[in-house]
Amino acid sequence: MINVLTKEIYNKIAAGEVVDRPYSVVKELVENAIDAGASEIAVEIEVGGKKSVRVRDNGAGIPKEDLPLAYLPHATSKLKSAEDLFTVATLGFRGEALASIAAVSQMKIISKRKGQNAYSLSSEGGLLGEVREAAGADGTEVCVENLFFNTPARLKFLKSDAQEEGDVSNMMSRFLLSHPEIAFTYSVNGKIKLRSFGDGLDAALAAVYGAETVEKCYGISAEKHGIRIHGYLGNQNFSKPNRSYQSLFVNGRYVVNQTVGAAVTNAYATYLMKRQFPFYVLFLEVPSEIVDVNVHPNKADVRFADNQIIYGCVYSVVSSVLDGNSRALEYLAPKNDIREATHEEIVLPKIEKSAPVLSKMSYEEAKKELSFDVSPLGGRTPAPKLYEENEKFTMKVNAPTEGDAFEENRAYLLEREKKVQEKIDPATLSYKGELFHTFLIYEIGDEAYFIDQHAAHERLIYNRLRSRTEAREPLSQPMLVPFVLNVNSEEYAFLIRQLPVLNEIGFEAEEFGGTSVKVSAVPADLQGIDLEAFFAEVLSSMESYNGIKLADLVKDKLASAACKAAVKGGERLTDDEAKSLIREMDGDMGLRCPHGRPVAVKMKKSEFEKLFKRIV
Ligand code: ADP
Ligand code: MG
Repeated sequence: MINVLTKEIYNKIAAGEVVDRPYSVVKELVENAIDAGASEIAVEIEVGGKKSVRVRDNGAGIPKEDLPLAYLPHATSKLKSAEDLFTVATLGFRGEALASIAAVSQMKIISKRKGQNAYSLSSEGGLLGEVREAAGADGTEVCVENLFFNTPARLKFLKSDAQEEGDVSNMMSRFLLSHPEIAFTYSVNGKIKLRSFGDGLDAALAAVYGAETVEKCYGISAEKHGIRIHGYLGNQNFSKPNRSYQSLFVNGRYVVNQTVGAAVTNAYATYLMKRQFPFYVLFLEVPSEIVDVNVHPNKADVRFADNQIIYGCVYSVVSSVLDGNSRALEYLAPKNDIREATHEEIVLPKIEKSAPVLSKMSYEEAKKELSFDVSPLGGRTPAPKLYEENEKFTMKVNAPTEGDAFEENRAYLLEREKKVQEKIDPATLSYKGELFHTFLIYEIGDEAYFIDQHAAHERLIYNRLRSRTEAREPLSQPMLVPFVLNVNSEEYAFLIRQLPVLNEIGFEAEEFGGTSVKVSAVPADLQGIDLEAFFAEVLSSMESYNGIKLADLVKDKLASAACKAAVKGGERLTDDEAKSLIREMDGDMGLRCPHGRPVAVKMKKSEFEKLFKRIV
C-alpha cells in the first residue's frame, strides 16, 4: 500500500509539470491516438474540459494484458533510441502522460485490438480497478472526468470554462492542420465545433477557417537550402487585426518562433498597413541537425543553429510569392508552386542540442517495473462503490448532426477548383472620368472600379524599381562628390561584408582606408537618398539579420522613392494619362500601394441600386 501511495504522490508531482490544464490532457490523448495510427479521431469536451474529456480513435488498440501498463509512469510501447530523442517527432512525456492524468482524475480506457474483444479499465485518482470485458469498436477510447477532483489547489488555477475551452479549440485547430490525413471530429458540450475528413490540407484549412479563407490564400511549396516550406499565405488583400491567425509548424510540431515570424511579417511589409497582420499556416521541414526542439517540453518554441539562414529562406520565399502575385480582391488565388527556387549550395551549420529532457524506458523494462512495483496494486480489492461510480463512464456516441454544413464546405472547395478567374482585360474597361482629382472611375459590365491614382502610380513605380534591383541589373548613378562614411571597426567589418550586396544593387562602395567606406555611386532608383540616414539604418540592423535586413531596407527606400515620384492625389491627370495608368496596371485590380493601401475599390451595379432602393 505504501508503495502505491508513494507512486500516487510521485504521479501528482509529475502531473504538475505536464498536465496542468484540460488542453494538455487533450493534447496528450490526441497525440497517443495519432501514435496509434488512427485515421479517425473524435474529441469531446464538456465544461471547458473540466467535467470531461473524451478521445476516441480507430487506432491499433491496447492488448488486454497491457491495459494496466498504460497507467504506469515510465511505461511506453514507443521504443525509441537515444538518437530519436533529439528529433521533433518523438517529443513526448516519458510515457507518463496517462499515469499523470489518471492520478488527478477519474479515468477510463476502453480498448479493442482488431480481432479481439474490447476491454476496459478504470481508475480513480490513480487507483486502478479491474480489467473488464467491454463493448466497443476497434481502437481506443480514453475518458477523463472531473480533472483535479482530488487536488483542489490545482483546480483553483484553472481559467474560466470559456477560456479553457478556447485553448482546447485552438489546439484542435492545429491538430486538424498538422494532420490533414486524419479525420477529426471535435465537439464541445455535445455540439460539433470542428470537423475534417482526412482529405488534405486544403480541406483542413477550410474546416478550420472556412472556405472563403482558402480563397484568399496562396498555396505555396518551396525548397531552399534543404529547407522545405509549404502551406498557405494570406494574399495581399487579406489581413487580420492580430497574430492569432498565424500558425507555424516546424517538422510537424506547432511552434511560435520569432525569427520565422519576423521574416514573414517583413515580407508583407509593403502590402499591409500598420496593425494589420498577415494570415499564414506554414510548415517548415528542416534537417533535424539544425534545429533544437528541446527548449522546454511545454514551450512551443524551437532553436535554430542559424537564425539568419532560416530568416533568409522564409523571407525570400514569402516575398517572392507576394511580389510576384498581386491579385484583385475577388480573384481566385491559384495554387502556385514557387518559381524555381535557386539551388545555392550552402552548408547548414549544425546545432548544439540541449540535453534531452527525457529518458524513455523500454516496454520490457516497464513490464519488469510493473511486476515488481505494482503488484500491491493488482492485489488490491477496490471498494465496490468505486465501480458503481465508474458506471457513469458509459460511452455516449455523438451523432454528426451538423455534417451537412461540413459537406457544404467541401462542395464549395470542389467548386472553387473548377472556377478559373481571369484578370480584367484593360481594353474592356471604359474610363468614366475622375472625382476630386484623386479617384479615377472605370466601368466594366455591371461593375465600377474606383482607382486611387496616387496609390496606383506608386505601386507601379515601386514594382519597376524592385524588379530592376531584383534582377541585379540596377542603374548606377555616379555622385558628383563621393560620400565618405566613417565608422568604428566593428561597423566597418560589418559593412565590408555587405559590400558585395550593396554593389549588386547599384551602389558603388569600397574600402577607403582606416575604417572608412567610400560611396561613389548610388542606384539610380534611389537618387537623392539621404546616405547618412540610410547607412545609419543599415548599421542599426547590424546585430540582427545582416544581408537580409538590408534587402528590407532597400525595399523600404524604394517605396519612399516611389511615393515621391508618383502623381499625388489632387493632381489632375489628362484622360490619356488616366488610360495609360490602367493599361500599365495590366488589369490587376488587386494591387496595393507599397504602404499596404488598396489601389482599387470595386462596386457592383446592384450595390448602387441598393443605395437608391431600386432593389432591396
Ligand atoms: P507515451 O505516449 O509517451 O508512450 P503515455 O502515457 O501517453 O506514454 O501512453 C502509455 C502507453 O499507452 C503508450 O506507449 C501506448 O502503448 C499506450 N497507449 C496510450 N494511448 C493509446 C491509444 N490511444 N492507442 C493505443 N495505445 C495507446
Ligand atoms: Mg503519450
